[in-house]
Amino acid sequence: MKDYYKILGVYKNASLNEIKQAYRKLAIKYHPDKNPNNKIAEEKFKEAAEAYSVLSDPNKKKRYDSNRNNNTYTEYSEYTNMDDIFSNFGDIFSESFESFTDFNFTRKKYNKIKGSNLRINLKVTLEEINKGVEKIIKVNRLKVDKNIKFKNCYNCNGTGVVTNITKTFLGRMQTTIKCNICNGIGKVIFPQNAKLLIKYEELINIKIPSGVTEGIELKIQGKGNEAPYGGKTGDLIILIKEIPHKIFKRKGKNIYYNLYISIPDAILGTVKKIKTLNENIKIKIKSGTQNGQKIILKNKGLPSINGSIKGDFIIKIIVWIPKKINYKQKKLFEKIKKDKNFLINK
Ligand SMILES: [Zn+2]
Repeated sequence: MKDYYKILGVYKNASLNEIKQAYRKLAIKYHPDKNPNNKIAEEKFKEAAEAYSVLSDPNKKKRYDSNRNNNTYTEYSEYTNMDDIFSNFGDIFSESFESFTDFNFTRKKYNKIKGSNLRINLKVTLEEINKGVEKIIKVNRLKVDKNIKFKNCYNCNGTGVVTNITKTFLGRMQTTIKCNICNGIGKVIFPQNAKLLIKYEELINIKIPSGVTEGIELKIQGKGNEAPYGGKTGDLIILIKEIPHKIFKRKGKNIYYNLYISIPDAILGTVKKIKTLNENIKIKIKSGTQNGQKIILKNKGLPSINGSIKGDFIIKIIVWIPKKINYKQKKLFEKIKKDKNFLINK
């Protein structure tokens, strides 16, 4: 009696899923499409189907197991015809076929193929990020050449697939494969060697929202490359690059700025005009301002792309120490030095 466990290569306590997996593997390996005119493969294919038909059915499996233990001879030759095998285990084949042929390939699927996306880098300044900006950019897109005409593929009559029926000693066998003339599309173009997609330049107006950050991608739908066979046009992806600012440093939504003041201004206090990202502001430097002291202008930083509260504009005071002084200045500071008021007194 045949050892169905051995045929499928599974243990006696294998689960139904394991049995199914094992059979699928063998069915793919010995499938007649893959092994044309190979009698041994056909035999193995049949054998595997037979083993699977028994081991996948709990009642048949029980009977088989008990017969096996009693060593009673029983033959399960239910699947001698290939057509029967295909019709009985159709679900297994529809799953497994995809893995080695384009069995389910149809023109419809091709029509759904989307055009490719276009990607561009776009540099923006902090000022532009703060307010948002509109820009006109030049893009090279692929579009379908309108001069090209299509006709139905002569090989597959526009179906994209070719069906072959062969008669074997096991019966009628039908195989469906992707048409190799039109590559499954069902249409051929003419002139035959023409390029279906051609490059052309387009000016596109884009709106950059305020609060973008380096690395953010903005998607403009339908402004990518066209799909060759009627699918949806691809998208234009804009990758934001931030141009480093000459004066300001950005950390998230906050802007950092170093403000240099003179020694007398630090001691006596003053008013300074400064330019934040988009406005001029006067700030008061108090008498006795220390080097490194910070002045925080609330909500004068950057917005975030989702519109929450703005960040801060943070001013760091740096008291400028002259690197060179003349004789007069030297005398002045020597005089100040003698004044006890200038001793460090925390
Ligand atoms: Zn064709």
